[in-house]
Amino acid sequence: MNVPLLDLKAQYATIRTEIEAAVAEVFESQQFILGPKVVECEKAIAEYCRCKHAVGVSSGTDALLVALMAEGVGAGDEVITTAYSFFATAGSIARLGATPVFVDIDPATFNIDPALIERKITPRTRAIIPVHLYGQMADMEPIMEIAQRRGLAVIEDAAQALGADAPGRRAGARGHYGCCAGFPSKNLGAAGDAGMVTTNDEARAERVTMLRAHGGKHKYYNELVGGNFRLDALQAAVATVKLRHLDRWTAARQANAARHDRLFTEAGLADKGLVTTPRAVRSRHIFNQYVIRVPRRDELMAFLRESGIGVEIYYPVPLPLQKCFASLGYKAGGCPESERAAAETLALPVYPEVSDEQARYVVERVAAFFKR
Ligand SMILES: *Cc1c(COP(=O)(O)O)cnc(C)c1O
Repeated sequence: MNVPLLDLKAQYATIRTEIEAAVAEVFESQQFILGPKVVECEKAIAEYCRCKHAVGVSSGTDALLVALMAEGVGAGDEVITTAYSFFATAGSIARLGATPVFVDIDPATFNIDPALIERKITPRTRAIIPVHLYGQMADMEPIMEIAQRRGLAVIEDAAQALGADAPGRRAGARGHYGCCAGFPSKNLGAAGDAGMVTTNDEARAERVTMLRAHGGKHKYYNELVGGNFRLDALQAAVATVKLRHLDRWTAARQANAARHDRLFTEAGLADKGLVTTPRAVRSRHIFNQYVIRVPRRDELMAFLRESGIGVEIYYPVPLPLQKCFASLGYKAGGCPESERAAAETLALPVYPEVSDEQARYVVERVAAFFKR
């Protein structure tokens, strides 16, 4: 049996006519950059995140970059973030000439450990970027408390967490900015690259709006040095259609995750501690990824791939140990929980259309591996 890590064709089959109509409208209008489709998408995302403003940008990476630019982060500044995330989280900081300062994760959630943040703050610290990894929100309340007390901006990397909730606020609506991504593997994927910056602050929304189009409110009058970080109308049209289905897809991902949990328990793997699924209890996890922690991870990964199952490591190298950050001087052992996660975790298929038969096959194969 084949179980891919993600099957976008299965999803597309259910929304084809709606997407085709939305795309045709854009072609009829011949308005491809910004315009009414982008405004419609921004409104829909703001409403979905329960946030006042959303500004469409060219990717999740650019959302992070523009949010940092809107805070005036640049050379000599430091930005605190998690040691365990997709590269863009740290890359966006470094691209502005600022220094990423890495904080280890809480092994129970894979998200930044708020208890370790304060000791990393220096007079140069400007912002904190917590990441809601795999679709589960970072512990925002202590992070916001520290940020408020120390005068720092908080930029949520919500690229994997559109629709995730914790008591209080939705992902993207708790910090000063939220950054969403429309890369096709995200829960709300566009038809290419797309992103969104959310904020409850009007002045910040205005700065982001200027920065995404070369830093001016009016063409050819530049108040700031921005860039071309605009969202395409085609991407916006596709994302707006897909947003209407997002809650249904999320519910299916959550049901699939719960079924995996149950099957691992029934197989005796959870009790023996062979397969653990770290998670916080108080948040609405949207399962962009379903990630297990296992011994002999690399062997299991090869075994599952041979069995026709799509699996992936998110992520094999913690950010402080990436080659491009060697000059920052982090050494192995410096962020032990991130390093352990990089060595022990594996993502299994959890996309909405995974069938009962496929899920049983995945768990049966994992069980077979540990019986060998
Ligand atoms: C995908 C992702 C990004 C970047 O989004 P793109 O749209 O691919 O640029 C940033 N941070 C995290 C945690 C991501 O998963």
